[in-house]
Amino acid sequence: MKICFLSIDVEKHENQKNQPFEGVDNLDNILNIFRKNNVPATLFVTGEVLEYAPDLVKKWAKDFEIGCHNYFHNQLNKIDLMERERQVKNFVNLYKNIFGVLPKGFRAPRNIIDNQQFPILERYGFVYDSSVFPRYPWTIMAYSGYLGRAPIVPYFPSEKNYKRRCLAPACRQAGALGINNTLIELPESPASFSIPMVGTWLRRLGVKFFKFIFKLKKPSFVSFSMHSWDGVKFDGKSSKNSGKDFLKQLDGMIKFLKEIGYEFRSGEQIYEEMTNYSN
Ligand SMILES: [Zn+2]
Repeated sequence: MKICFLSIDVEKHENQKNQPFEGVDNLDNILNIFRKNNVPATLFVTGEVLEYAPDLVKKWAKDFEIGCHNYFHNQLNKIDLMERERQVKNFVNLYKNIFGVLPKGFRAPRNIIDNQQFPILERYGFVYDSSVFPRYPWTIMAYSGYLGRAPIVPYFPSEKNYKRRCLAPACRQAGALGINNTLIELPESPASFSIPMVGTWLRRLGVKFFKFIFKLKKPSFVSFSMHSWDGVKFDGKSSKNSGKDFLKQLDGMIKFLKEIGYEFRSGEQIYEEMTNYSN
């Protein structure tokens, strides 16, 4: 079975100072493509977005999982642990007020995470994180979110080093035993040649390029993520094919992945399958 974890980071757009929430207001652009193709997905929203548009997020929640993209879009390595905990706590409280339940999944802004963040997430009831880029291609502009190699399929992270598997028997058996209190990492696993399956790269390279590399190799687990602002036209840095062009590429990419046998999952579905299977 080949799995594609589909997600959107829903946040203010730093490049669009005049209309930072344009992508949020128009997220149905992207969601309607998911709906049309009948695929589940996780929307990692910031607390700012929850605050700005609670009714919109409630609407999205009818069809999709809503996860946490921190309260503000701060790089975690630039704020201290007290502030990190405060942001997680404030997000969870706001989420609970709106949905009456706890969020399950977390993705760090710019994918920058470290060992200290995991205990905070566990304390507030999160069951999975999806921040780790386990591979990254060499480029002139290195991505600050790539912090070194990690497993490319979902794993129980080690307490000492989140980029390694936990080797304790309790972790190895957690799935088989249906233990639900261990945080799982759903890495942002790339296509072959470490090509990230993210909106910016799809806009840059096009569906044809991905069709070519998937011909060479079809990894058993890939993470396909994008931003709320990919679906609206903007100018400036990394804006190539934003808006309508991206929406067309997105539709083509989902159809292609289905054709070659990928099944789509939200984060919570992958978590459930990892912790509740029995055979
Ligand atoms: Zn983000």
